[in-house]
Amino acid sequence: MSYLRDRVVMITGAAGGFGALLALRCLERGAFVVALDLDETALAAAIGPSERCLMRSADVTNISDLTGAVAAGVEAFGGIDVLVNNAGIMPLAFYRDHAEAGEAWARCIDVNIKGVLNGIIAVHDQMISAGRGHVVNLSSIYGNAAVAGSAVYGATKAAVNQLSESLRLESQGKIKVTVVKPTGVPGTGLGGGVINPSAIAGILGANYEGYMGTMGQIAAGSADPALVSKDTIEYAALDPELLVEQMLHAMDQPWGVVISEITVRAANDRYVI
Ligand code: NAD
Repeated sequence: MSYLRDRVVMITGAAGGFGALLALRCLERGAFVVALDLDETALAAAIGPSERCLMRSADVTNISDLTGAVAAGVEAFGGIDVLVNNAGIMPLAFYRDHAEAGEAWARCIDVNIKGVLNGIIAVHDQMISAGRGHVVNLSSIYGNAAVAGSAVYGATKAAVNQLSESLRLESQGKIKVTVVKPTGVPGTGLGGGVINPSAIAGILGANYEGYMGTMGQIAAGSADPALVSKDTIEYAALDPELLVEQMLHAMDQPWGVVISEITVRAANDRYVI
């Protein structure tokens, strides 16, 4: 028995990473899915054909793409019960990298902050008139505190926390709000947006050298098996499936129960925030 059965879940950034996995797992649990990403072909490749899934190209920075997707979801499945504001980019860089990073930072603010706001606006009235809804926002541990190398990305995720909490306060009793704060989860496409790889050091502090060594070994397939087994306390880097499993747990609840915030870690992760 899944509470997600027949709920309609709209997911932004669903062509890769967490979003694609989440779309597939929601379909497995009997949900209807409205899957959105920049590229419709990539969505089809990631999710495959399903009568219960509507796939549309939508740029979250464009509010009309999102209102259009909500209207299509209402027409196809009767309404949007759950919105997952998942699309995000991570152009880590130091302030001194501004010449190279400036454009990506502006885009990051648009996607990570305005994209989440646009998603909330697009579903808000429909959820309020339906009398219930659930908004799940992807934040990050980078939003917990300022560290060198992630001024803009961290600020966008701190903003997501604020947007989420305000929504909870304003719509209490009508819209459930869940904030997801993953740690570093390798194996998605997010790292592709990093401008200066040295900037990831901020989240690791003094653990940087050890972390890079471990990640290098994992990538080369030469790591101690304990580091890559979730059944050991040495488990070092979370598999995206495990993060998505916990997101599903937060989403697969009766309407009256809210898991308002989750952080999921590998027991032996090396992050300082
Ligand atoms: P990812 O790059 O694998 O997936 C992000 C998806 O968003 C991609 O399919 C991309 O095409 C899409 N996207 C980007 N810009 C878009 C836009 N303007 N409109 C619509 N879609 C857009 O990354 P991921 O790791 O799966 O990240 C998903 C979310 O989780 C992001 O918000 C990210 O900040 C957050 N997060 C990830 C990690 C991690 O370690 N992977 C950690 C903390 C938070």
